[in-house]
Amino acid sequence: MTLNNKAIIIGGGISGKLVARVLSDFYKEVIILERDHEPVGPSPRKGAPQGEHLHALLHAGEYGLEELFPGITEDFYGGGAVKINSTLDLSWFHHGVWKLRYDGKYSTTLQTRPHLEWHIEQYIKKIPNVIFQYNQIVQDFLFNEAKNRIIGVQLKDKSLKADLVVDASGVSSLSSSWLDKRQMAVPTEKVDINLSYISKQFQLSGKKDRGWKIKLVYPNPPHEKIGGTISKVEDNRYIVTLMGYHNAVNDNAVLKSDESFVELARKLPKQDIYQEIENATPLSKTSIYRVPHIIWRRFDKLENLPSGLLLIGDTFCRIDPVFGQGMSIAVLETLALKKLLQKHHRELDKVPTAFHKKAGKIIGPIWNMVITEDFRYSETRGKKPVGLSIQQWYAKKIFLLSSQNQYVYDSFIKVMNLVRPITSLMKPSIIKSVLIYAFSRK
Ligand SMILES: Cc1cc2nc3c(=O)[nH]c(=O)nc-3n(C[C@H](O)[C@H](O)[C@H](O)COP(=O)(O)OP(=O)(O)OC[C@H]3O[C@@H](n4cnc5c(N)ncnc54)[C@H](O)[C@@H]3O)c2cc1C
Repeated sequence: MTLNNKAIIIGGGISGKLVARVLSDFYKEVIILERDHEPVGPSPRKGAPQGEHLHALLHAGEYGLEELFPGITEDFYGGGAVKINSTLDLSWFHHGVWKLRYDGKYSTTLQTRPHLEWHIEQYIKKIPNVIFQYNQIVQDFLFNEAKNRIIGVQLKDKSLKADLVVDASGVSSLSSSWLDKRQMAVPTEKVDINLSYISKQFQLSGKKDRGWKIKLVYPNPPHEKIGGTISKVEDNRYIVTLMGYHNAVNDNAVLKSDESFVELARKLPKQDIYQEIENATPLSKTSIYRVPHIIWRRFDKLENLPSGLLLIGDTFCRIDPVFGQGMSIAVLETLALKKLLQKHHRELDKVPTAFHKKAGKIIGPIWNMVITEDFRYSETRGKKPVGLSIQQWYAKKIFLLSSQNQYVYDSFIKVMNLVRPITSLMKPSIIKSVLIYAFSRK
């Protein structure tokens, strides 16, 4: 296979690293430009501030990462990550009911985000034609004269040329504005959720086996807005993440002291998390991260998108993090990219357009599922999905049935873990269960 010359990736976060892995088979040189310093260990970093908050790796992400980096899952566990049975070790209070617990087929990996990223980075550093350049902030694209092709990127004091530029710089990506100032307006879907994430790590006291490894207490919309999670991570630590939709949490008050964080946990619909941390030892400062809106930049719909440019991960779409799917979406997108690179290896110029279409298809159903939930709050602003109230009605029945019907919950957990399409919840057997449930309640 003839290798193309050079690919540049803006951003060395999760997506940037994954893309580097697949591009390295098709380009002689792959350069990752990352604005942060080189990490010296698995620690939070400025460029990915969401990394201080819980980052569960769902089954689709776990499985896909293993395909991209054979052996990485065992490395995660060797470093202290926690493997859980997705239905047995997860205790989940959702829409006012506890979901069933049973020994199912799927696993989820619990670890801190810095731990996960650090391990991926070690794999990337072993690929000889991938070069990491740290402390590099990309400031603009370089265009050809006709302004229909990206030929490189502009940094503070130099420019770099490449056959392909990938933007993996995440939600703060400036691609849209760089394109916009050249009359290429990217259609954008934006939904305001005004969500705050507040996290802290603890050493829990008492018994070692708590009967769960992760516990989720979600707010029951529209009246409850504050929820939380507690999850085991490396070194027998627990990360507690509390979240509030539509500015329900007073950020300044909760940041005041360790006690004010614990007090916020008392406001959750169930006291479980509060009871775990009221006598626990705090191991970290309280971190806060705000998600004013979620955003889907429709690069797949921009007709005059220049060639030589590919966009992936949170650059393309940031969904509501409460569903824990962002990293797994990046993995699914990368696997799709790998297939397209193999298919078009003689005409790599065809890949970006085909990829953006494919990514749009991966994102679409997940975006729809997530905003269907977000729109349960009347304060949520943005474009509502078609048939919202019927979708909300149906989804609610699935959530409630998940506390009593193992078949329905099993189907739902597969969808949540992105291993089955959302349409699998529309099978006649599930519709029947939903209707019987709804009818019998009447
Ligand atoms: C609070 C919160 C909790 C979450 N929890 C989960 C979870 O439980 N499970 C899950 O799967 N997902 C979760 N997510 C989603 C997940 O964080 C993202 O989907 C994922 O980080 C996307 O990776 P990315 O590489 O596209 O972007 P990022 O990880 O944000 O990486 C972007 C990188 O680009 C660099 N960069 C930015 N601009 C430039 C520039 N101009 N030049 C050079 N470099 C630049 C940044 O420094 C950074 O390293 C959560 C998100 C949030 C906000």
